Amino acid sequence: MDFFLTDEQTTYAAHVQQFAEQVLSASAAERMAKSRFDREIWRQAAEMGLTGLPLPEKWGGSGFGALDTMIVVEALGRGCEDMGLVFSLCAHMFACAVPIWRYGSETLHERFLHAVAKGEVIVANAITEPGAGSDVHAMRTTATRDGDHYLLSGEKCFITNAPIADLFLIYAQTAPKHGFFGISGFLISRDTPGLTVTDAGAKTGLNTSPWGTVYLQECRVPMSALVGVEGGGAPMFQDSMVWERGCLFAAYVGAMERVLQQSIRQATDRKQFGRQIGDNQAISNRLVDMKLRIETSRLLLYRAGWLYDHDQPYEEAIALSKLWISECAVQSGLDAIQIFGGTGVTRATGIDRLLLDALPSRVFSGTSEIQREIIARHLGLR
Ligand SMILES: Cc1cc2nc3c(=O)[nH]c(=O)nc-3n(C[C@H](O)[C@H](O)[C@H](O)COP(=O)(O)OP(=O)(O)OC[C@H]3O[C@@H](n4cnc5c(N)ncnc54)[C@H](O)[C@@H]3O)c2cc1C
Repeated sequence: MDFFLTDEQTTYAAHVQQFAEQVLSASAAERMAKSRFDREIWRQAAEMGLTGLPLPEKWGGSGFGALDTMIVVEALGRGCEDMGLVFSLCAHMFACAVPIWRYGSETLHERFLHAVAKGEVIVANAITEPGAGSDVHAMRTTATRDGDHYLLSGEKCFITNAPIADLFLIYAQTAPKHGFFGISGFLISRDTPGLTVTDAGAKTGLNTSPWGTVYLQECRVPMSALVGVEGGGAPMFQDSMVWERGCLFAAYVGAMERVLQQSIRQATDRKQFGRQIGDNQAISNRLVDMKLRIETSRLLLYRAGWLYDHDQPYEEAIALSKLWISECAVQSGLDAIQIFGGTGVTRATGIDRLLLDALPSRVFSGTSEIQREIIARHLGLR
């Protein structure tokens, strides 16, 4: 067993962190204050390779495995204060680019993959529906054969990147009676007649990441839009969630580290009753707990990535990592606010941001309750 990062991993992570601090965070405060997504900032992140980390170099990606990807995304979260941007980049990369690469046909690769890896087009993944959240198999969106085309009809909600996406990875029922094996994925262009998007409005945290509702009214798409085989959508989605639950949450480990450093500074700078507030164990214990959460999160995260990269059973490890990191991020967000006192709840300081950005992390990519269900199954309880 070896807990050291290689020189290459350390150097690349430092490079990405510096880029995130100097470029992505530079205008972050203004973007976040206005809840604004900025395509020019996206372009700069993409130029840095942050839209195609796990994709093969042949297609313009970096060819990283899961563990290397986690290390880079962690550095991104450590350096970039705008977690909405990080979230949008990760949703594009893990829930969209990965399945197109791992399951898409040569035709789809030739047509789209380079532009997807390079972030020249933005993709949104759409599976959730008003009546199908945790239970995705209850989806009602259908794709019915019409000669050598499919007709897609339905409604998808809470779709990250939908208002800015050029392409949509839509999951639909092709054989409703077949349950798990009745779902298929389709890659559809935004200008497909019958496809409309509405903005879903403000959400708790991650406010520079746009999301929306996608309506499909008899969208006619060619058979070549199918990603993978007909009926192969559910396993493909599960595989993309392994990447998202694993790698996206690395950003929260980085964010927790950034906020810990801010909190340590506050604990030493701020004086009350004639001494640093950090001299009180009530404060230093919070800092110790924040540190403990980062270290335990990182161990679970890297182990999950290592298992995936070494073709070892990883499902339980990924669920443990996702569950623990999201719950830790919420708790550390609360601790940071408490350490900062009044300034912690002043919107202008942005100390409340970790908490706000962490709250949705217990819901997306499978809720905390669903992760517990997966872990309980591995304990033999289901
Ligand atoms: C910020 C954000 C971004 C998102 N982006 C996307 C996206 O890009 N694409 C997309 O398709 N979707 C996206 N989603 C949707 C997300 O995947 C769903 O919100 C999530 O799967 C939960 O579904 P739901 O909201 O319908 O809640 P529900 O499934 O209705 O759950 C409500 C509550 O019941 C609990 N519950 C449900 N079933 C069980 C069970 N069997 N056992 C125990 N508890 C249970 C849940 O854990 C939760 O606490 C996003 C969500 C958020 C918050």
